[in-house]
Amino acid sequence: MFSNYETFRERASAVQDRIAGACRQAGRNPAEVQLLAVTKTQPPAAVEYAARFGLAAVGENRVQEGVDKRAQCAAVIRWELIGHLQSNKARLAAAHFDRVQSVDNPKLLLLLERAAGELGRRLPILLQVNAGEDPDKFGVAPAEAARLLEVALSQPHLQVDGLMTIAPLTDDPAVAPRTFARLRELRDRLAAQGGVPLRDLSMGMTGDLAAAIAEGSTIVRVGTALYGARA
Ligand SMILES: *Cc1c(COP(=O)(O)O)cnc(C)c1O
Repeated sequence: MFSNYETFRERASAVQDRIAGACRQAGRNPAEVQLLAVTKTQPPAAVEYAARFGLAAVGENRVQEGVDKRAQCAAVIRWELIGHLQSNKARLAAAHFDRVQSVDNPKLLLLLERAAGELGRRLPILLQVNAGEDPDKFGVAPAEAARLLEVALSQPHLQVDGLMTIAPLTDDPAVAPRTFARLRELRDRLAAQGGVPLRDLSMGMTGDLAAAIAEGSTIVRVGTALYGARA
């Protein structure tokens, strides 16, 4: 359950220690891995805590919830959309989020491009890939990702920072590492083909962040380990 700032601070320090430990194991610099606090279902205070602790960004999975919460928050922090985005919410998302991590089809790209253009901004995005080929997950199929990237790169008001994935939910411990490795390999291939850095790999959550860091994650999206179990 959600509690006070002291508890949050302890949990956030523990998560940072996990990140640092995973980086050490992988021979990586912890400064390369951003902790994104996932505040979905949590009250605005959760966002204030993240800001007070010094985190750079929070993640929300529903557009309207994020918009409402942001309106209630004084915290200076970036807001990222990490959940599925429906076409009819594209304009709202472009107006109220600092980055959209869940772009997975060309129609959505074009709607975000139009909205960002009308807002006079350049919107950072990640392309969500169904790297685990999980029928229950959103995301572009790995085989379709190159085509989606090509469309994305030709939009003047969108900036493609990298790729995002969610590992399939399973008891098999081999699945998450394999999924993350696939996303990294795909990123390396697309970056080389497209001549773009695609620097960010958003992968890893409370249960699998070490595996994600071992495979090159630059953004871990963590909710439960920071705020406790969601209602
Ligand atoms: C909820 C959510 C998370 C955080 O999951 P935890 O297991 O609570 O850390 C990460 N990414 C996405 C896309 C989510 O919806």
